[in-house]
Amino acid sequence: MPNPLPTAWFNGRFLPLGDISVSPLDRGFLFGDGIYEVIPAYGGRLFRFDAHLARLRYSLGEARLDDPYSPAQWREVLQGVADRNGGGNLSVYLQVTRGAADMRDHRFPSGVSPTVFAMASPLAPMPQQVLDEGVTCITCEDIRWRRCDIKTISLLGNVLLRQQAEDAGAAETILLMGGCATEGSASTLFIVDAAGTVCTPPKDKRLLPGITRDLVLELARDGGLAVAEREIRETELRGAGEIWLASSTREVVAVTSLDNQPVGDGRPGTMWRRVWHLFQDYKQTLIAA
Ligand code: PLP
Repeated sequence: MPNPLPTAWFNGRFLPLGDISVSPLDRGFLFGDGIYEVIPAYGGRLFRFDAHLARLRYSLGEARLDDPYSPAQWREVLQGVADRNGGGNLSVYLQVTRGAADMRDHRFPSGVSPTVFAMASPLAPMPQQVLDEGVTCITCEDIRWRRCDIKTISLLGNVLLRQQAEDAGAAETILLMGGCATEGSASTLFIVDAAGTVCTPPKDKRLLPGITRDLVLELARDGGLAVAEREIRETELRGAGEIWLASSTREVVAVTSLDNQPVGDGRPGTMWRRVWHLFQDYKQTLIAA
């Protein structure tokens, strides 16, 4: 992610990012005890805000954290961060931790307010080379915990898996569990199967319910493509004609090499191109509205 922009939100105030400091006793720091969201903004407007807010509230609920704000307050804070950093295309990040207690103890502290932080970074357009050539990926067994449906800031598993891709000169690690491919270390997985159906694994605790995932499914379905939410066997992944990854910061990208083998003919596929254009059109309607 590019360097964060200067103005952030911290516990009730907009502040210069450099003026914010967090207690070493914050449970986010000590335990990774918190949750987060990443919301893209296009033309300064938060994209699929209601869906991101619903996932935020789900993560808070599953982590047994009280929601510090109403939906209207969240919108005001996050739009405020976007506006104070020049609008345009941004990635807006927020996190809520269980706050700073006066000692380190696994048990929930009482009487402690959550720590709330939000910032923005420029959202760079996907490089032309990625659109022309796609990206390379590796696969790894998923080493994470069993609640990957919660968008927790405890990301050590994701970090280690993502770094394996980096070490291999690849863009992302596709995760395997019990003979199935589930998602990327920071992205949703799609394949186009032998019947030409756009497939992504069903939502469950093995993966994050991606907001971009739902949009890609919606756009593909509305665009007349067959879609299915179903398991993707590892063997099927390796033989897929097209593989895509989707996320709030990457939109939808084509995977053209997997574990050093070409995917399909080794070029971004025609179905990917169709959905990528549908995605751009959808964004434009939002920016123009
Ligand atoms: N899966 C994981 C593990 C992620 O970290 C992300 C995004 O960061 C996604 C999927 C895609 O989610 P979204 O489309 O909401 O960005």
